[in-house]
Amino acid sequence: DPQLNQHYTFDNFIEGECNRLARSAGFAVASKPGGTSFNPLMIYGGVGLGKTHLAQAIGNEIKRNLPDKLVIYVSCEKFCQQFVDSLKNNTINDFVNFYQAMDVIIMDDVHNFAGKERTQDIFFHIFNHLHQSSKQIILTSDKPPKDLAGLEERLLSRFKWGLSADMQVPDLETRMAILKKKMYTDGIELPDNVIEYVANQIDNSVRELEGAMVSLLAQATLNKKEIDLNLAKSMLKNFIRNTHKEISMDYIQKLVCDYFEVPVEMVKSKVRKREIVQARQISMYLAKNHTKTSLKSIGAFFGGRDHSTVIYACQTVEDLIETDKKFKAYVQDIQKKLKTS
Ligand code: ADP
Ligand code: MG
Repeated sequence: DPQLNQHYTFDNFIEGECNRLARSAGFAVASKPGGTSFNPLMIYGGVGLGKTHLAQAIGNEIKRNLPDKLVIYVSCEKFCQQFVDSLKNNTINDFVNFYQAMDVIIMDDVHNFAGKERTQDIFFHIFNHLHQSSKQIILTSDKPPKDLAGLEERLLSRFKWGLSADMQVPDLETRMAILKKKMYTDGIELPDNVIEYVANQIDNSVRELEGAMVSLLAQATLNKKEIDLNLAKSMLKNFIRNTHKEISMDYIQKLVCDYFEVPVEMVKSKVRKREIVQARQISMYLAKNHTKTSLKSIGAFFGGRDHSTVIYACQTVEDLIETDKKFKAYVQDIQKKLKTS
C-alpha cells in the first residue's frame, strides 16, 4: 500500500492525556477492523497534533496483523481530485468500485469536503456500502462532526455513528517525551535542560515542536557548536513564525475555485452561472481584504472588470454574510485556509 507511510507507527506514537482515548480506540480498531462499535472512528483536533500519524499507525498496524486486508489511506483533498478526474475521464464507476472494494479506508482531513457537494454525494454512497459490509472507516478532521461547516447533514450524521475522539495539545511532559523519542530515533543526544527549554517554548503543536528542534540542530551543525542551554536560547529567538506571508490573487483564485469545484478559467470569464459568479465575487472580496491590491487592479485581474464591479461584489458578499448562514460558513472556512497556508 504505497499510500501508507511506514514511519508512522504506534511504537513511535507517544501516549499522553491529550491523545489517550483516540490512541486506545485506534488500537482497538487496528486489532479488529470493522468489528468494534468504533465505526467510523473519527479523530479530530487542531493542526500538527498527530492526527495523520495516528491514522496512519492504525493502517500500518492492521497490515501487520492482517496482511491480506486491503487498506487505503487517502487525503480528502486527493479523493476530491480523483473524483474530478474521474468525471473528466468518464471513469466514475472504476473510481467508486476501487474504494468499495477496500476492507479499510482511512480518509484524512474530511473538513476539506466543505463546499464540494458532488464529491460528498459519492463519498456518502461509498461510506454506506463499506459500513453495511462491516468494513472499517477511519476519518480525521480539524473539528468534531457537529462543528463541521459546509458538509451535508446526512454525511455528518453518519460521521457521528461511531466514536469521535479528540486530540489535544500535549502537556509539557508529553512534549518532552515526544522530543526525546525523536532524538533517540535519530541517534542524537541532547541535554535534558535543552529538551525541556524547547518543549516549554513551543506549546501549540507537535509539528512546530519538531520543527524548532530540527532548526536548532541544523544551525548547531552549520556553526559547528555543541548544543547547550545558552545556544538553544539564542537560537530559538530566531525561530520566528512567518505569519505575515504575502497572499497573492492567484492563490486566492485557486483556493476559492478548488473549494467550490469551479474551473479556474471560469472566474475570469464572462460566464454568469450562479456558482461561477459566487466564486468570482468571493475571490474579489478576499482580494480586497487580504491583499494590498487596489480595486482597479483586482477588477483587471478577475477578467478585465472595472472597480465599481469589485465594490458591488464586495457589497454583495458582505450582505450575504449577514443574511445567509451557510454562505458565511463557506467564506469563513476559505479565510481560515488562506491564513493557515
Ligand atoms: P496532524 O495530522 O494532526 O496535523 P501530524 O500527524 O502530521 O499532525 O503530526 C505532526 C508531527 O508530529 C508528525 O511528525 C508526527 O509524527 C508528530 N507527532 C504528533 N503527535 C505525536 C505523538 N503523540 N508522538 C510522537 N510524534 C507525534
Ligand atoms: Mg494531518
